[in-house]
Amino acid sequence: MAGLLSLEGRVAIVTGGNSGIGLGMAKGMAAAGAMIVIAGRNTQKNAAAEQLLQDLGAQVLVVETDVTQPDACHALVQATLARFGRLDILVNNAGTNIRKPPQDYSLEEWKTILDTNLTSAFVCSQAAYPALVKAGGGKIINTGSMTSIFGAGFAAPYSASKGAIVQLSKALASAWAKDNIQVNAILPGWIDTDLTRQARKDLPGLHERVLARTPAARWGDPDDFAGIAIFLASRASDFVTGTAIPVDGGYSSQA
Ligand code: NDP
Repeated sequence: MAGLLSLEGRVAIVTGGNSGIGLGMAKGMAAAGAMIVIAGRNTQKNAAAEQLLQDLGAQVLVVETDVTQPDACHALVQATLARFGRLDILVNNAGTNIRKPPQDYSLEEWKTILDTNLTSAFVCSQAAYPALVKAGGGKIINTGSMTSIFGAGFAAPYSASKGAIVQLSKALASAWAKDNIQVNAILPGWIDTDLTRQARKDLPGLHERVLARTPAARWGDPDDFAGIAIFLASRASDFVTGTAIPVDGGYSSQA
């Protein structure tokens, strides 16, 4: 892919890149020429993603990583530099959810969700920063949610983490613009992944409600994230920073 959208020679870490939205973004960036580092915990999913990306012609590194462990985030960046010698793009996408009424969460559950969805993005960004500066600039893409905008009564800690991801993106964008690092969030609507397959089981009627509420009248597909990832990872977005871009089939636009 030539020109503004090319990622030839660029190295991208994708946390939670072994499935769903993260894998959709990884596939997009691979198609644009990037070398991809997949960071997830599950060995089988990591291996399957590695194979899929290699079949697309990409150079791939898998680093088995639990992003709730700060040392693991630093080791992830070090392994990337050891293999590829540089880092240009960090996608903070690993995420989890536990659905229940707010009064029923344990503090442990709250911490698990905040550590996975929010603290990991901060720690991985800190870990990546020196390498991005050394590369002359870079891109950070953080995965938010419709709950970055709307409250969800069945997902208080998740909503808190995803609201904060947007503000974290703005703060990092403000701090690191001088280093030519652009930081943006994407806000997925309802996307058909492992995470939401569980939600469809937990929340009766969800499938129909999503179809009725989404102007595009369909669930999103992980491949819907290829284009936004290429844009936000490439020179095409060099003057775009601190934004939160819905990728939601119009969900957040309709009253
Ligand atoms: P998936 O379950 O397919 O992906 C979640 C990913 O996060 C997996 O790759 C998983 O890999 C990884 N992950 C979870 N915990 C950790 C951890 N501690 N360390 C490292 N990796 C971890 O679901 P989605 O693709 O839907 O979710 C991806 C992101 O998109 C999440 O941030 C989610 O909140 C967000 N999102 C999803 C929406 C949807 O409708 N699907 C809507 C809005 C936002 P592994 O288990 O191997 O560690």
